[in-house]
Amino acid sequence: MGESSIIVYVPPILFGLVSLTFFVLWQQRIVTNWQWGAGFGQTALGFSLSTFPIQPVFDALASGMIFIGAAYCYSSAVFEHFQQRSFDRERQWFVGLYTLLLIYCIFVLESLRYQLFLTDIAFACLVGLALIMAVPKVQRGVDKVLLASISLAFVDTVARAVYFFFFYGNASDDFGDFVDSAYNLAVHITTITICMTFPFSALVASGVSAMDRHRQAAERDPLTGLLNRRGFEAAVTDPGASGLRDGAVLVCDIDHFKRINDTLGHATGDAVISAIADLLRHVTGRNAVTARFGGEEFVIFLPGATLSKARPIAEQIRQSVAEKDWRFFGLAGPVTVSIGIDQPRSGDSDLYSAIARADRALYAAKAAGRNRVFEAEENGAFGAPAMASV
Ligand code: GH3
Ligand code: MG
Ligand code: MG
Repeated sequence: MGESSIIVYVPPILFGLVSLTFFVLWQQRIVTNWQWGAGFGQTALGFSLSTFPIQPVFDALASGMIFIGAAYCYSSAVFEHFQQRSFDRERQWFVGLYTLLLIYCIFVLESLRYQLFLTDIAFACLVGLALIMAVPKVQRGVDKVLLASISLAFVDTVARAVYFFFFYGNASDDFGDFVDSAYNLAVHITTITICMTFPFSALVASGVSAMDRHRQAAERDPLTGLLNRRGFEAAVTDPGASGLRDGAVLVCDIDHFKRINDTLGHATGDAVISAIADLLRHVTGRNAVTARFGGEEFVIFLPGATLSKARPIAEQIRQSVAEKDWRFFGLAGPVTVSIGIDQPRSGDSDLYSAIARADRALYAAKAAGRNRVFEAEENGAFGAPAMASV
């Protein structure tokens, strides 16, 4: 590959642009870590080194360190993306060991073949570790594409290392021959082709993560992690279906909550709200749409449930709150909730009609002495005890 070959300029330019893009996105807080930008930037730098006429031995040392730096950043970025433990100390020891071996290959063995093999295998180890740790965490389609593209880069690196070390007969061991070597040509070709899927899939996966984070922030209540009103609306609205969904609605309000705030402070009040949210999550299960509508009021939609199925669930919520040991929170007595229930009826325009009736039943429960489950009556005006035992 002669100096005039345009191919040598392609990887540094492509990876340089990708790196710049990632740094801008990081600065805009769309991408959460700077390691993507740093990894792609080092890859660009590593490739541009061989386009400058510098001492071959220095080139070998510098590009070895730069590529291992890139691998370190890629693995950090993958760990962060999948929210995995990052093995920082182990990876730093590994880079230290690699550095010693690199110096040995260059200055003692004086072997280009060993230096390239070592660098490729070390690169593959760091990226492979991140890859293996990420596999159990992959759920989204874009993350599968990201892992597939990292796997391609991994296989490319290992295959090249093995082929040129064990099978390629013409390999020169002289550092001065690197620029024009078949190895260098192979690196450029696979980098421009299959390895470019890596930065683009990282870009898409980071973008989708950012959107998920923003959606999460917009649709969730930060104190309890339950849905807020907006999230509830999005969850109960079935975009494909026309009309109302079948199901039951529970409106649940903590009794005399103001007293808890007044006697033990706002922080304890918050802790009680969170604990009740956890109980609701536990009792209502995965299918339920559970939201905090503000203050100490919760709304639960049980998709497909009839009133006779909703009653015992509401009763279970009431009981588990009343029976919970609240002493840990500094409370002397029990905390209780009142619950109103109803379901969508013909003539309702949306779920809020059922919520309004359940709300009226809730206030009937409060008026009847609290710590009760009431059901909206046929005419919707008042509530009635939902179970004979209450
Ligand atoms: P009732 O049994 O009739 O429901 O009485 P209550 O005291 O629970 O109801 P009220 O509506 O009088 O008081 C609700 C209180 O909840 C008033 C408000 O200060 C408090 N509150 C609302 N949001 C929060 C919150 O996020 N954290 C805390 N700690 N308190 C909150
Ligand atoms: Mg209340
Ligand atoms: Mg209230």
